[in-house]
Amino acid sequence: MTKAEKVVDRLTEIYGHLSWKDDAFRVLVRTILSQNTNYRNTRIASRNLFSRFKTPEEISNADIGELATLLRPAGLHNIKARRIIEIARLITEKYGDLSKVTQKNVDVARADLLSIKGIGPKTADCILLFAGAHDVLPVDTHVFRIAKRLGLAPQDADHEAVKIALESQISPEKFGSAHIALISFGREYCRARNPRCGECPLDDLCSA
Ligand code: SF4
Repeated sequence: MTKAEKVVDRLTEIYGHLSWKDDAFRVLVRTILSQNTNYRNTRIASRNLFSRFKTPEEISNADIGELATLLRPAGLHNIKARRIIEIARLITEKYGDLSKVTQKNVDVARADLLSIKGIGPKTADCILLFAGAHDVLPVDTHVFRIAKRLGLAPQDADHEAVKIALESQISPEKFGSAHIALISFGREYCRARNPRCGECPLDDLCSA
């Protein structure tokens, strides 16, 4: 078993197997909602939104004030409402249904997603993993930092190199849980500033 697998297994014991599958547009919206908040608040705001609006087209025509109210549990709700309306408009105009993109070959699908304004590498990979059933491990700022502190990726690795390093050391069926557990761990213990090394459950595996 690789060190990365040990890290993931220990973290999923703590945080659980929080992986899921969903429609591509909903994954995109959840990824936007999850910024600066936790998994639970993201779920509540997402449920609020999709119990009122079902499609990108409906959201693109929504009243921004109403949308912001529905998204309040996720925080930064005015900013997130504006971003979600903008991206819903883009997707409605360009694709209609985002799942047409995720069904393509992984490299083509990734390139298509990255061509949409507002979708960066992490968001594209979340969509590919959670909606497209492609084996990719999304790397956000927490995953990026932790991979280096734990010595799972070279110190000079860029975003793509960290992603490739992790994907080569972790079993694909664990990618979803690994992504979510590493984010939770980054928020609770391995914070960017003042990491809680004295209480860290991965202390024995860490090379920082
Ligand atoms: S020991 Fe500190 S730096 Fe290492 S993984 Fe734990 S919190 Fe992060």
